[in-house]
Amino acid sequence: TLELENVSKQFGTMAALEPLALRIADGELVCLLGPSGSGKSTLLRIIGGFEMPTGGKVLIDGADVARTPPEKRPTAMVFQSHALWGHMTVEGNIGFGLKLRGLKKPEIAAKVDAALRLVGLAEYGKRHPAQLSGGQRQRVAIARCLVLEPKILLMDEPFASLDQHLRDRLREEVRQIQRKLGITTVFVTHGQDEALSIADRIAVMSMGRIEQVGTPAEIYTHPQTPFVAGFIGDMN
Ligand code: ATP
Ligand code: MG
Repeated sequence: TLELENVSKQFGTMAALEPLALRIADGELVCLLGPSGSGKSTLLRIIGGFEMPTGGKVLIDGADVARTPPEKRPTAMVFQSHALWGHMTVEGNIGFGLKLRGLKKPEIAAKVDAALRLVGLAEYGKRHPAQLSGGQRQRVAIARCLVLEPKILLMDEPFASLDQHLRDRLREEVRQIQRKLGITTVFVTHGQDEALSIADRIAVMSMGRIEQVGTPAEIYTHPQTPFVAGFIGDMN
């Protein structure tokens, strides 16, 4: 279980996040949905332990993320722009984290192979990132996270740089992989359609607050604040 308890974030005098609470059950896919500047990425980075909250805490199975050393945190994050290492092959990129953990070569190879198959890139292990399309690179970025077998997968607008068609496809693939592995996922997006189609629950954010949390159906049919109604109604 992922629990946010009164998590807040202040940058100087600017409150990026007002104290907020959220509870995410194991295996759930929750979208953080909101316009630019609403605090989605800040919240995701705090969940991942990349940033410390000014107040409150993030608990994963009861353990405070801020007090957990980086290598023990059960999270992995896929960033918007695929930060792959250009000098390494696809296999190298995916296996690097396992190497750091001290796994032996055959074990790394087996896990890398399984991760590549999971994202549909079984034949691409020997290529370099420059020889891949944008969508394939994002698949590698996802495989690189999954191979670490995180308890929680964090994704910050992972397909924002891709065209609509590819984005729809990858979103569907992520959904299937997520279901198959039962991996708890927090998925940041500013796209209402994206959130409505992929999420078990959506947390709608505005100006550092969570305006409403609910299933896509609840959010869509019963928006509880004018902001949510306007934002969801803006869909095209
Ligand atoms: P977008 O959809 O554009 O990615 P977002 O919802 O992810 O937006 P955040 O990146 O979380 O928004 O930013 C929330 C607010 O916090 C913004 O006003 C932003 O300018 C501010 N902010 C974020 N990071 C910092 C930082 N390191 N220093 C100062 N202010 C910051
Ligand atoms: Mg962001």
